Parts: sequence; C-alpha cells; structure tokens
Amino acid sequence: MGQLIDHIGPTGPRALRAMSNAVVADAIAGSSWSLPHPRSQEEVDLLAHLTTIDLPLNVDDCDEYEWVAGDSSLRVFRSSTTWEVLRPRQQIKNWVDVVWFKGAIPKHNFTMWIANYDRLPTRSRLAAWGLLVSASCPFCSNYEETRDHLMLSCEYSRDMWSGSTASSSSSKMIPNT
Ligand SMILES: [Zn+2]
Repeated sequence: MGQLIDHIGPTGPRALRAMSNAVVADAIAGSSWSLPHPRSQEEVDLLAHLTTIDLPLNVDDCDEYEWVAGDSSLRVFRSSTTWEVLRPRQQIKNWVDVVWFKGAIPKHNFTMWIANYDRLPTRSRLAAWGLLVSASCPFCSNYEETRDHLMLSCEYSRDMWSGSTASSSSSKMIPNT
C-alpha cells in the first residue's frame, strides 16, 4: 500500500485516531489491532489487509536472529556455506581434471589454470597493455611471444619438449645412468 498517509489521505491520522508520527505498536492493544471502525474504502482496504498479517511481536518477547544462506536450513553463520552461496559459478570445464588434481603442486595448478584461460603475462599481452616491452619471442625472436607460440610452436620450446619426453623415457629404461 505504500505510506498510509498517501493511501488514506491527509485525514488519515484523524480517521484512524493515530498521530501522523505513530509507530505500528501504537495501533495495537494487547493482542489485536486497535483501529476505529472504517469509514472509507481505503480504511476498509487497510483493515482487510491487516487481518491477513500477524501482529508484530510484543516488546517483551525475545528476538532471534537467523542466518539463512541459500536453501541451507542452518541457523548459524558458516563462512564455507556463505562462500558457496555468494561465489560466482560457471559450468565445470572439461579440462578441470588436467589442472586440479590430488597431489599437484599449487603453483603449477595456478599457472596451468591461467594458461588455460590464455591469461599468462606473455610479452604480446604485456605490450597490448601498453608496457614498453618487445613483443617478440625471447627464444627465437621470429614471432610474437603468445601462449601458443611459447608453449607449443616455438622451435626452442619444441626442442625442450622433445628433450624432456626423450629423457623421461630413457630414464625409465636406464634408471641407474
Ligand atoms: Zn619463439
């Protein structure tokens, strides 16, 4: 209904026998509303509405606080539950197991995660942000240093990968050398 003074009009305080600065408790006597018999349609609407809502608590009653986070029925605050409710969610990525797995090194997790989003601070990205750095690859100087170039297509990186896979397979085959 909005403010009663707008709903009923300037004659409202006199018609309802309530001061214009009255609070809800002023309109209650014991366990019922203490409003006079309605004389206008607006007052009838008000009384009809009041019959549908509970009286406010008595001042003697103890007040209680509840913490409701999402669908949780917990009445106490829990930071973990709250975080689950508040945090932004997206669809689970199909690479999630590649990045986050038991026993992984957190620093590597993080770098892999950033790399998946192509957010590594490569030279081409730094230059795009306005930093005064050369965007070219520091290994070969022939291409821009992007994630894909740095990790996959740079000649130097390919040599590193092939050397790494070769040494890991040879170390398995000849463990004592
Ligand atoms: Zn390169």
